[in-house]
Amino acid sequence: MGKSFPVLGFDVGATKVAVCLGKSDGTIIGKGRVDNNDRHPDKVLPEMVALGKKLIAEAGMTNEDIVAIGIGSPAPHDIPNGLITTPTNMKKWVNVPIRDYLKDHFNIETYMENDANAGALAEWFFGAGKKARNMLYLTMSTGIGGGLILNGHLLQGKSFLAGEAGHICIDMGGPQCNCGMKGCYEAFCGGRAIANRLKKQLADQPASAIVKHAGGVDNIDMIAVEKAVRDGDDFACKLWDDMMKRNAQAIGLFINLLNPEMIVLGTLAWAAEDLFMPKLMEYLPDYCWAVQLADCKIIPSGLKRNIGEYAGLSVALNALFEQGRFQPWED
Ligand SMILES: [Zn+2]
Repeated sequence: MGKSFPVLGFDVGATKVAVCLGKSDGTIIGKGRVDNNDRHPDKVLPEMVALGKKLIAEAGMTNEDIVAIGIGSPAPHDIPNGLITTPTNMKKWVNVPIRDYLKDHFNIETYMENDANAGALAEWFFGAGKKARNMLYLTMSTGIGGGLILNGHLLQGKSFLAGEAGHICIDMGGPQCNCGMKGCYEAFCGGRAIANRLKKQLADQPASAIVKHAGGVDNIDMIAVEKAVRDGDDFACKLWDDMMKRNAQAIGLFINLLNPEMIVLGTLAWAAEDLFMPKLMEYLPDYCWAVQLADCKIIPSGLKRNIGEYAGLSVALNALFEQGRFQPWED
């Protein structure tokens, strides 16, 4: 399969599903979104199929032209059986056989990966991680997820949970994490965890710069924190600094463990790049060896907010790559 060929991708998120028809060379042919937002999969799945079929028709193609479908979906799930099981932010999606549903409705071979792995594949094939042999991708958003490319292949792990970077414990006395453990990397640096902590901490401090930027304590998020840091607010700057030390601690651990040539960082690292990257590079030498650090290129996402469009496509392409039917970067 030397020539570029079309694949269809679905990136399932709690608020929306990104649907994208693209080519194996990274050309996007058509794209759209289906609203999710606490809706039932009985409503969402048929709309995903309808949009996928519309994109195929608009491109003057038929289902037979599409080589494979890829799905990126939030954990937890059952990858071998193609199920989304019980995602925390998608309460109505319980044991949904999404892979076979799409496969049956399109009559196209269909593959599934967790969303962080799908993001890692997207950066590897089309973004900042092109041609890397050893690469770690970290989502740095409401939660922290990871995807690992090792020796030129995605590492899935025995339970398809390899790369759960957000849930390594970095402090025995650390804060409670959503996952049940304490002191997880995500409990320190995940956007949701930080926001939840601040909502309690700043509940009686309406004059705080963070609360002002959020427009009320209940609306605190990382955007409000970032704005307060840019104001030079002491509390916010100290918070940011502590967060960046924790980021350096975790990322330093990954560097020593894996000796990757590249680490690609998601949302927060590109959305607030000037506040994020210099601090990270300042603190990293305290948390990993100099040789591995010098050999590791650490950069924000190349695909940025478009990563969802490439994620599903990349899941399909990686399945074909592992079967010897697709060679990335051949041109
Ligand atoms: Zn955890």
